[in-house]
Amino acid sequence: MNIRRIGIIFHGIGTPERTLEPGEEPYWISIERFESMLDVIAEDPERYRITFDDGNFSDHAIALPRLLARELQAEFFVLTGRINQPGSLGSREITELLAAGMGIGSHGVAHRDWRRLDKNALRVELEESKIVLEELCGELITKAGIPFGGWNASVLKALRQAGYESAWSSDGGCMRSDAFLRPRRSVRGDMDEKALEDLLSGRMSSVRRLRRGLRMALRRLI
Ligand SMILES: [Zn+2]
Repeated sequence: MNIRRIGIIFHGIGTPERTLEPGEEPYWISIERFESMLDVIAEDPERYRITFDDGNFSDHAIALPRLLARELQAEFFVLTGRINQPGSLGSREITELLAAGMGIGSHGVAHRDWRRLDKNALRVELEESKIVLEELCGELITKAGIPFGGWNASVLKALRQAGYESAWSSDGGCMRSDAFLRPRRSVRGDMDEKALEDLLSGRMSSVRRLRRGLRMALRRLI
């Protein structure tokens, strides 16, 4: 059955335990904000798809117990180049997320903008990360979370060729549960109450809606 859902991306929660990339800090949120958002989501869980990008250690240490306490399910898009690095998920944490009923997907190897890579480098990002996660999880990995929301026709084609069945972007708005491209929206630490409310209700500003409409129209031409 096709249900339209609001896709949400969390990145880091609490205090980072690794050196952040330039521009990454605004995507970290407090535990209090995370909990209050989960409380809203838990009132109507069928309306949402909860996702986590980057494979931060907080996915396991902070997010997992709070998701389980509210009987919520989420997808975790992991960077395989960071597995077992300080501040990031280790192999054990990834298998525990899976065992707890969470989904695991690829966010690539090294957090690159896939639009800027040549064909071979892109293939390594998509295929190598998929193989590493499949060996670790013992199951097929079919979902990819696109870093920096950076996709174009070549990226989507390469994702399909590598065997992915869905690509999770950050274009905002609702996603169809049977679509290849799954738009989501990032939660930021500097969002005010109104912005958070808009995000949780699936509302978009007119500029954002226009931008998304153009991108999705382009997608249909591919
Ligand atoms: Zn990312």
